[in-house]
Amino acid sequence: MNITRLQFEGYRNLKDNFILPKNGINVIHGDNAQGKTNLLEALWLFNGSRSFRGSKDNELIGFGRDFARLTIMFTSAQRDQTAEIIITNGKKIVTLNGVEKSSASELSGSICSVIFTPDHLSLVKEGPAERRKFIDNAIVQIKPSYYSLLNRYNQTLSQRNALLKEIYYKKELLDTLSIWDEHLSQLGAAITEQRLKYFDMLCESAKKYHSGLSSENEDLKMEYAFSYDYDGEHDVQKIKSAMLDKLTKNREEDLQNRVTSCGVHRDDIDIFINEKKTRIYGSQGQQRSVVLSLKLAEAEILKETIDEEPIILLDDVLSELDSARQRYLLNNINNRQVFITCCDPSNVAKLSDGKVFMVKGGVVKKQGK
Ligand code: ATP
Ligand code: MG
Repeated sequence: MNITRLQFEGYRNLKDNFILPKNGINVIHGDNAQGKTNLLEALWLFNGSRSFRGSKDNELIGFGRDFARLTIMFTSAQRDQTAEIIITNGKKIVTLNGVEKSSASELSGSICSVIFTPDHLSLVKEGPAERRKFIDNAIVQIKPSYYSLLNRYNQTLSQRNALLKEIYYKKELLDTLSIWDEHLSQLGAAITEQRLKYFDMLCESAKKYHSGLSSENEDLKMEYAFSYDYDGEHDVQKIKSAMLDKLTKNREEDLQNRVTSCGVHRDDIDIFINEKKTRIYGSQGQQRSVVLSLKLAEAEILKETIDEEPIILLDDVLSELDSARQRYLLNNINNRQVFITCCDPSNVAKLSDGKVFMVKGGVVKKQGK
C-alpha cells in the first residue's frame, strides 16, 4: 500500500498544507524542532494506533486551534481509498472512504505501517520486557486472536501470584496451586508456539537486512531464551510439560518470593553480532542497525502475511549510521513506501531516487523535481 496525498490542518506545529509523497523513499529533513516527527506521527495515526510518543489526542491539536484534521488518499487492496481523522477536544472522528468508523483501530485492517523511532533502541539496550513486547505486538498485527491469548495468560499469572501470597497465610490453599500451574503452562505453551513460529521468520529476515546494512561484515544471530530448560522444538505438548516441570521444581522458591519465576513472562531474546552479545558489546551504530533490521523484518513478515506492503516510517534513523549504512538504507528498501526524517540535508545527496521534503517552522515544502 502507499499514501498518495496527506493533508493536515491544525495539526501540532504544522502549517496547514498537503504533500504528495512518492511510492518509494521520501526524505523529510530540517533542523531540530521544525515539525519532522510531527509529520511522521500524522502518517502513523492512520494505522489506528495511538501516537508513538504516548501523547493524548488533544495534545495533537495545534496551539490556539479548535481541531486537527488529517486526510489521506491511499492505494490499498488495488483500490484508491480515502481516510480522515478529525480530533476535537475530547472527540476523535474517523472515516474510511466516507463511512464513519466507531474507532481509529478500525483503520488497521486497511492501513498498516511499521515505525522506528530512537526510543526503539530500548529493544536492544533495555531489559527483556521490551523484546517480549516487540514480538508480541508484531504477532498481534498478523494474528489478532493472539492478543486474547496473551490477556488470558496474564490474568492467570496474576491469579497464580495472588494465590502464592494467600498461601503464606492460608496453608490449606497449597493444594489448589497445581490447577493454576496446569492452566498457566497450557496458555504459555500456546503463546510460545506462536512466538517461535514468528521468531524463525524474524531471524531469517533480520539477518538479511543486517548483512546488507553492514556491507556483509556482520552476522546477526538471535536466540529465543527460555526461562526453563527447553531445546526449542516447536511442539506445544513438549513446551507445556517443560514449563510445568519448572513450575513444579520452582514451587518452593515461588512460594518464598510470592511471584512466578518462569513462563513466557520471563522469556527473552538474545541478540548477537558476530557471536558477541549486542546489548553488552554492540556499538551505537550496531545497536541501531539491529533495531532497524528487526523493524524491516517486521515489515517484511507483515507483507508476506497480509499481501500488502506496509508503510515504513523511520524517525531520525540516519544519525549514528556511517555513510555505507545510510546509503544502503536510502537505496535498498525503495520497493515500498518509506518516510525517513533527518536533520542533515547532506543525506539527500546519497539518495539515488526519491522525493525530498524540507520542514521549517512547521512549513513543509517539496524540494527538487
Ligand atoms: P527534532 O529534529 O529535534 O526531532 P522535529 O522536527 O522532529 O525535531 P517535532 O517533534 O516535529 O520536531 O516538533 C516540532 C515542534 O512542534 C516542537 O517545537 C513542539 O514544541 C511543537 N509542538 C508539539 N505539539 C504541538 C502542538 N500541539 N501545537 C503546536 N506546536 C506543537
Ligand atoms: Mg523529531
